[in-house]
Amino acid sequence: KEVDANELINGVINTFRLKVEKYNGTLDAELNAEDPIVYVDEMHFTNVIFNLLDNAVKYKKPEGDLKLKVRTWNESGKLHISIEDNGIGIKKENLKKIFDKFYRVHTGNLHDVKGFGLGLAYVKKIITDHKGTIRAESELNVGTRFIIVLPLFKDE
Ligand code: ATP
Ligand code: MG
Repeated sequence: KEVDANELINGVINTFRLKVEKYNGTLDAELNAEDPIVYVDEMHFTNVIFNLLDNAVKYKKPEGDLKLKVRTWNESGKLHISIEDNGIGIKKENLKKIFDKFYRVHTGNLHDVKGFGLGLAYVKKIITDHKGTIRAESELNVGTRFIIVLPLFKDE
């Protein structure tokens, strides 16, 4: 289905605001991509954005403000989406494993969060199924940014 990515992302963000407010956090959206029409499965694409935002809240620092930022832009004829947090970050050696099924970073009892390590494996599968790519950039104790690149519908 042809979907306006900005509209879809806005929808997910709105369902997320309450959760962010609960932690006195902020969520900035700069959805600047023009005509961001992508051909995606609406439900799966919604889940992808939801999963990334969910992680961003889940892996926040135990203290300090929670700051999330979501951006969209067009570059090299493709839609780019970034989801950025100021959370605990991921060590370089672990970064390449986060998209593996069942992989979770060992953090001891630093933060009491549970999961199966499946969220990002699902996210990656959905994005690659849509001829897109996803990558993560992170710095320990600073934050993490996920960048999704997707072909625009008009080019397919
Ligand atoms: P699930 O999503 O299945 O409930 P999960 O969140 O542990 O469980 P993934 O979403 O696949 O699994 O993430 C894998 C691991 O990558 C996480 O356990 C966490 O260690 C790390 N991670 C993912 N997102 C972030 C983030 N935004 N900041 C810091 N670490 C992250
Ligand atoms: Mg997760």
